[in-house]
Formats: sequence, C-alpha cells, structure tokens
Amino acid sequence: MSENNRLRIAIQKSGRLSKESQKLLKSCGVKFNVNEQRLIVHADNMPIDLLRVRDDDIPGLVMDGVVDLGIIGENVLEEEQIERQTLGKPADCVKLRELDFGACRLSLAVPNEFSYEDASSLEGLRIATSYPNLLRRYMQQKGINYSDCMLKGSVEVAPRAGLADGICDLVSTGATLEANGLYETDIIYQSMACIIQSAEEQVPAKQALIDKILSRMNGVVRARE
Ligand code: ATP
Ligand code: ZN
Repeated sequence: MSENNRLRIAIQKSGRLSKESQKLLKSCGVKFNVNEQRLIVHADNMPIDLLRVRDDDIPGLVMDGVVDLGIIGENVLEEEQIERQTLGKPADCVKLRELDFGACRLSLAVPNEFSYEDASSLEGLRIATSYPNLLRRYMQQKGINYSDCMLKGSVEVAPRAGLADGICDLVSTGATLEANGLYETDIIYQSMACIIQSAEEQVPAKQALIDKILSRMNGVVRARE
C-alpha cells in the first residue's frame, strides 16, 4: 500500500451519527462536500480524507491502523474491543474525547407480562441482542446463565415472534420498547459518541493535524454546552 500522508477519518455513512459527525468536523474548520455515492471524501482545505462506512466497521479500521481517527458510539467501540480481545486480535486505540451526541443506553427489556425481579429472573432464558459481548460481560458479572439469540436488526420483535424471552438493545426514549410491549429492566451500558485514534505512532505532521482538530473540537463542544 502506498504511503498516505493525508489524515484518514472514518465516519458513519448514513445513520444516527452521520449528520452530527459531519457537522462537528465542519465546525472544526474542515471544508468538504459529501457525494452520497462516494466512499471517500477529500477535504478542500486540509490534507484530510473522510471514509464513509458502516458504523460497525469503524473501531476495527482504527484498531488495525487502516484509518487514523474514527467517530463512533462507545457501545460499538466497547463491543468490538471485547470481541477482539477474545479473538486475540489488535484491540488498542486511544479515546481522544467523548462527544456531545449519540446518547443512548444498552438495556435489558422483557415483555410487559413478564414478572421481573432482577437479572436472575433471566436465568436459563434466551435473550436477543446485537451486542453479545457486552451482554455476556454483564451476565457473567451477575453469575447468570442464559442463551443468545443473535440478531443484527429487529431485536425488539424477537419476544413477540417467539424467538427470545427478553432483549438487550439500545434505548434512547423507550418509545420503541413501549410500541413492542416491552419494558426496560437493567441499564447495562451508557453510551455517547466519541472520537478515537489509532494506537500507532503518527508521523509528526499528521499528529500535529490531529492535535489541531482535537483542540478545535474541544472548543466547539465546550461552546455548545
Ligand atoms: P450502520 O448502517 O452504520 O451499521 P446502524 O443501523 O448500526 O448503522 P444506527 O441506528 O445509525 O446504526 O446507530 C448508530 C449509533 O447511534 C448507535 O450505535 C448508538 O451509538 C447511537 N444511538 C443513539 N441513539 C440510538 C437509538 N435510540 N437507537 C440506536 N442507536 C442509537
Ligand atoms: Zn451498525
């Protein structure tokens, strides 16, 4: 692969973090125009390339040193980190700062008719989730045995569909749970978006650009408080 002196930043292509990620970078003085069809966006005024990808791919791209920075939900970061540690793959990166968007929580929820006392009520039952590693860590801490039902989407319909007894899913307002006849029982992880950097050492010019962006970002986030 040819040496790349441009700073590469991975952001979500489309979804809950994409608009805010773009807005934040623009507020930090990075000028660019997104073409919806394009994976890579070259900034007009700085040696920066934005890589527009699925959010799930962002932690791995940073941890493998394919990109220098990434903007990602802490939930996805933490899930990938546990997964990679389990598999013995590189799992290091530096969290530069938490951001002021993407607030959500990963929670356990059960059907309204389920009489729930505490997490031990789930002993031996099946839980649908897209976050098997965060769920496993929580249940291990509590000493509870359960089975997984791994779903990348439509987790909230799993109990009604007879696929699982409860779910472990992202919640922000709780409206989706309510609409599906579920209620939240345990918060297992509180999350915000964050910006992460690869653990690899950067050439001085690139590190200086990272420092400049981060210092502007600190100012932008503080001013929005
Ligand atoms: P992609 O197509 O990139 O894989 P996705 O469907 O996995 O997208 P989104 O639903 O866009 O992901 O959510 C991206 C991130 O936004 C989540 O991982 C989480 O950090 C954050 N988020 C904030 N609020 C919510 C919410 N109510 N539900 C889900 N995610 C939320
Ligand atoms: Zn995703």
